[in-house]
Amino acid sequence: MDWLDLPVTTVFFYALLTALATGLGALPFFFIKNISPSFLGKSNAVAAGLMLSASYNLIFEGYKENEWMTVIGMLSGVILVVLANHWLENKSTLELKDVVGGKKKDILLFLGIMTVHSFAEGVSVGVSFANTMEFGIFIAIAIAIHNIPEGLAISLVMVPKGTSPIKAVGWSIFSSLPQPIMAVPAFIFVETFREYLPFGLGLAAGAMIWMVFAELLPEALEKCEPHQIGLWITLAIIGMSAFQILIG
Ligand SMILES: [Zn+2]
Repeated sequence: MDWLDLPVTTVFFYALLTALATGLGALPFFFIKNISPSFLGKSNAVAAGLMLSASYNLIFEGYKENEWMTVIGMLSGVILVVLANHWLENKSTLELKDVVGGKKKDILLFLGIMTVHSFAEGVSVGVSFANTMEFGIFIAIAIAIHNIPEGLAISLVMVPKGTSPIKAVGWSIFSSLPQPIMAVPAFIFVETFREYLPFGLGLAAGAMIWMVFAELLPEALEKCEPHQIGLWITLAIIGMSAFQILIG
């Protein structure tokens, strides 16, 4: 069998595409120097809406097979992400701007922080492909679009400090690399232990919902009015619902 035809390769390929989409967030900086903070706030709100919509879909898919296992998965997901976050916060208050041009150790720690964030997203892509190919592509697209504002946020920190836009593209993609790396083992695990699929779907949803309210919303609130955030989150969810109907 050709390795290109393996399902694992497909999952890796799609998860890699979602990571590459993060680089698109740096593109505006090739043309303009400054991006208004309120634009970033709205982008964060859209990212939050996409993640909430994806989480809802993960739970819905889990319920089709085993409701309680989905709920237990959600609980495990939130416990896992809270513990990982707590552990990393104790280790360092490192931010991206400290890492750029920094030591190898700092870069590794930054990757650790990004791994926690990308963990849920990578697992979502992996378990969704284990559910069905179509659902996997749907979730991968949602995560890919949501990654663009994340790349924008990263570039917004780096470019005004003198990083070139092309390097900002590289760092943005780098920050999402844990996604393809997490997607593959999640896919293999759920493919092997098919009966735990609802657990995996719930786990990813629980961790992503936490991420929306612990990270994306506070970031959006720094730059935007609550009524605008509400509007853009709702529009993103409506957009995802319409997209889902369109692709059947
Ligand atoms: Zn994210």
